[in-house]
Amino acid sequence: MRRLMVLLVVTALLINGKTINAQSTQDSKKKIGVVVTILPLADFVENIGKDKVDVSVVIPPGGNPHTYEPTPSQLKQVSQAQMYVKVGSGVEFELAWMDKLASLNKNMLICDSSEGIRLIEMTERHHKKNKEHHNEDGYHHGKDPHIWLSPVNAKVIVANIKNALIEIDPGNKEFYTHNAQEFILRLDNLNKEFGDNLSALKNRTFIVFHPAWGYFASDYGLKQIPIEVEGKEPTVKELIKLIKKAKKCNIRVVFASPQFSKKSAEVIAKEINGKVVFMDPLAKNYIENLHKVVDAFTQSLK
Ligand SMILES: [Zn+2]
Repeated sequence: MRRLMVLLVVTALLINGKTINAQSTQDSKKKIGVVVTILPLADFVENIGKDKVDVSVVIPPGGNPHTYEPTPSQLKQVSQAQMYVKVGSGVEFELAWMDKLASLNKNMLICDSSEGIRLIEMTERHHKKNKEHHNEDGYHHGKDPHIWLSPVNAKVIVANIKNALIEIDPGNKEFYTHNAQEFILRLDNLNKEFGDNLSALKNRTFIVFHPAWGYFASDYGLKQIPIEVEGKEPTVKELIKLIKKAKKCNIRVVFASPQFSKKSAEVIAKEINGKVVFMDPLAKNYIENLHKVVDAFTQSLK
């Protein structure tokens, strides 16, 4: 009798397991739940997974990834997700929260989008304050976390996301591979176009409040001067120094971004008879946004 019971339970588990498997490999309504840290990653996942993924973003539009804290409903989303895509390059939100998010959902596959990308040094040590709290966890200290803003890096990120989706849903390997290849081709074209447009610029130095454009600048031979000092507004003394530098380099435009203060950018712009131009490092539509960014560069640095 007892043996029969065990047999029944095992069979029930097997049948159950089978049904679950069948569901997850089907192209049915059940989508793969994916949570990502920042909006550009959501754009990548959606371009590769299309109708097979259901993506949610932790840091909302306008949110600051250096200080953001997740809401209870976002924690619930993470606990039910099949995959999490982290930036992986030392963004403060992830340094502070990734372990907690992972512990909420042991079955969730964590995709490190930065795998295979060589990190460069920060232009200014603006992430220092938070890093001191995380010295023990093995992240790259003094490195620039804004890897996604280089189209060349974006190709690596897309490939990492594709591999993770295949790991979860191997039945649709061809679908993800095809979509990733298509998107990578678009990124290749973007990179070539940017190289052509930006190589013609005479003035190659730009001032920006939050120095998110280090990888972009490095790809296209530009020089980024940050206004922000260790995540804070500069002092008056530092502002005066920057204004002198801007005048010397003949800079007419100061870049700011919607996530950060534009106060000191406005002060500098006024002093140099220039203007403030917004560039968003975290806009969702990656290709469209970078086109806007390059337009801003070509119009302001020529
Ligand atoms: Zn940043």
